[in-house]
Amino acid sequence: MSDAPSYGFDTLQIHAGARPDPATGARQTPIYQTTAYVFRDADHAAALFNLQEVGYIYSRLTNPTVAVLQERIATLEGGVGAVCCSSGHAAQIMALFPLMAPGRNVVVSTRLYGGTVTQMSQTIKRFGWSAKFVDFDDLDALEAAIDDDTRAVFCESVANPGGYITDLDAVSAVADKAGLPLIVDNTSATPYLCRPIEHGATLVVHSTTKYLTGNGTVTGGCIVDSGKFDWAASGKFPSLSEPEPAYHGLKFAETFGPLAFTFHGIAVGLRDLGMTMNPQGAHYTLMGIETLSLRMERHVANAVKVSKWLEQDERVDFVTYAGLESSPYYERVSRICPKGAGGLFTFALKGGYEACVKFVNALEIFSHVANLGDTRSLVIHSASTTHRQLTAEQQEAAGAGPNMVRISIGIEDADDLIADLDQALAKASA
Ligand SMILES: *Cc1c(COP(=O)(O)O)cnc(C)c1O
Repeated sequence: MSDAPSYGFDTLQIHAGARPDPATGARQTPIYQTTAYVFRDADHAAALFNLQEVGYIYSRLTNPTVAVLQERIATLEGGVGAVCCSSGHAAQIMALFPLMAPGRNVVVSTRLYGGTVTQMSQTIKRFGWSAKFVDFDDLDALEAAIDDDTRAVFCESVANPGGYITDLDAVSAVADKAGLPLIVDNTSATPYLCRPIEHGATLVVHSTTKYLTGNGTVTGGCIVDSGKFDWAASGKFPSLSEPEPAYHGLKFAETFGPLAFTFHGIAVGLRDLGMTMNPQGAHYTLMGIETLSLRMERHVANAVKVSKWLEQDERVDFVTYAGLESSPYYERVSRICPKGAGGLFTFALKGGYEACVKFVNALEIFSHVANLGDTRSLVIHSASTTHRQLTAEQQEAAGAGPNMVRISIGIEDADDLIADLDQALAKASA
């Protein structure tokens, strides 16, 4: 199906990568709950292990159910290939792994998911890698942060905690000029709202845990390759361009061309890091993706309605949703994510910290959880939870000040959501 570019998004989200099961005719993609696959003979086994033939060996590397999901996400993002893995955070490490080495750095946006800030500022140091945090609205600062040891540029399309849209066209122009790949986390937007590859992204990463699965059931991640980056040209990416000792000196870029990154991700990344997605998890995500466009349309419509209502309420100080005309990022929405700014945003309560805590406790439909992108509406008061350990300045910088509440708008009736917010606001300000 990926050979048929004329199919629309709604068709591809149901059909891309899937075909009736060749053995049984099963229409829905079966869960291939198996660890290993029988070789036809010793020659077949040898060819598979040498990467001379593509096929299934062992499910740490490849699995038929996971393979359908990989093809589906790659198609929806407009990439040439994809590798699924165990979580969004695994996808970020898997994306950086072939590019980085001790002493190398990645230049990242200051506006990121909280867990990504920790991963990039602390944990990757254990590999000898480092991250430089820059305001991606300051293109001169971005350019200045790139040095000879930089191997990638990383940002989110629609960034946490909500309301910020990255100017991907401008950022990719800077990365291009420096000869570096741009990695875009497209979790909050999904390929329905934003297609980063069309704006110059080299790689797109996802936490499939969120909107792609859509109902809060499984964790997963994915790395999509645009196939457009020339890994051999600069000499900066030896894992992809130089002989790989563990495969008899095979050069991924030379042998697999535009699929080099994808093959490396499976043959080296999953083989040795082992951050594998399980077939049951892939099944849940495949079920979710079938309705992605329908859900995203409703998430966006509800977010617009609820944010407009909040914005005019006198108990609310301000709302950060980029889909509001009052947002400084409103212009970028039509260019970067023309079908809407997503379902995630923050707002400030006039009553401050105490009012936020009362408000979160009083909500009935909204669940107080550390998650987003569920069919259910979710809420979190970052200052008393996820951002609790940060200083007051760090909280402010992260858009998680004591007066801020983050909500992930679900696909329930918008009027019910508004009524719930209204009664909780009344209790919070009583
Ligand atoms: C949740 C999330 C992640 C991390 O994904 P996990 O599946 O929880 O590991 C990364 N980036 C963004 C934007 C997220 O929302």
